[in-house]
Amino acid sequence: MEKIVILTGAGISAESGLGTFRDEGGLWAQHRIEDVATPDGFARNPAVVQKFYNARRVQAAQAQPNPAHTALTHLQRNWPGEVIIVTQNVDGLHEAAGSENVIHMHGTLAGALCTTCDHRWVAPPEMSVGEPCPACGGPTARPDVVWFGEMPYFMDLIYDHLANAAIFASIGTSGQVYPAAAFVHEATMSGARTVELNLDPSSGASSFDQVILGPASETVPRWVQKLLRES
Ligand SMILES: [Zn+2]
Repeated sequence: MEKIVILTGAGISAESGLGTFRDEGGLWAQHRIEDVATPDGFARNPAVVQKFYNARRVQAAQAQPNPAHTALTHLQRNWPGEVIIVTQNVDGLHEAAGSENVIHMHGTLAGALCTTCDHRWVAPPEMSVGEPCPACGGPTARPDVVWFGEMPYFMDLIYDHLANAAIFASIGTSGQVYPAAAFVHEATMSGARTVELNLDPSSGASSFDQVILGPASETVPRWVQKLLRES
């Protein structure tokens, strides 16, 4: 049974209308990264940060999965081995498309985290400054998303999966941000076949056995169909 490990990034959510800090226009354009996506920014002005993530939470809740998300769910359901989806995205579009056991390495907009006791719970649609933690009562709730300068979640689990991967696919990621940028090297060392699916070649494209260029909503369904035909 061949295990497939898939890393997804902003490029797969972009076609569902969710922008990133690299895009012009949209939510991110009105803010500096250091103000809304760093622990220091949160310490300086928690109200601005909560407001920013409240807006992103609303936007993500209104977004619909696109054919790339749906194709990965189809792969998970029909591939004879395990299909692990690791995502850098904080939206819930993989789950909305029916995918299971999605590993959110950068956390999720759906979650709240207590900075005092590390308790996690389901975030209300609107989080406010001083929102009490249901475990310790401290007024120290933050969005459960990984900010710049923070260590992504589930790294041990992800490396365990990569060590057993027969196929590693990177979909819609820039290939610039470590540790995710190193996943292809880990997978290659494990003997996996590696493929990048991206709109443009990423900075790490030369590390992959194969590069497929185009919008994820077109390339991913075709790639999945081919894999299933050959399985
Ligand atoms: Zn707490």
